[in-house]
Amino acid sequence: MAARLLLRSAVRAAGSCRAAPVPALTRGMAAGGIPTDEEQATGLEKIIMKAMKEGSDPYSMMKPKEYAGSKVDPHLVPSITNKRIVGCVCEEDNTAVVWFWLHEGEAHRCPSCGSHYKLVAHELPH
Ligand SMILES: [Zn+2]
Repeated sequence: MAARLLLRSAVRAAGSCRAAPVPALTRGMAAGGIPTDEEQATGLEKIIMKAMKEGSDPYSMMKPKEYAGSKVDPHLVPSITNKRIVGCVCEEDNTAVVWFWLHEGEAHRCPSCGSHYKLVAHELPH
């Protein structure tokens, strides 16, 4: 008898106690919260964040893509001029760097190991 009374009151309580819809939590300034990095970024930082979202890397901040270094798949070296100096660590454990100038046009070979490097035009967003 007591169990039936408890069960009935519990069912009645559960039926009358509905959860109110909870508003979604936002951090945005429109809701009066703390602004996110995207909302408070301005100028160059905003340009960089937008480019990163689109998958581009305008300032070469990410790790460069790896190339085979062969004549068919040379290492691509971005440059804002028509030449750039390149340092090649020919072997992984070498302590000396071989420096040479890379000019616009055909791919150049490292004088020590023979890896190919090709200059590609790069424009800064500003
Ligand atoms: Zn080399």
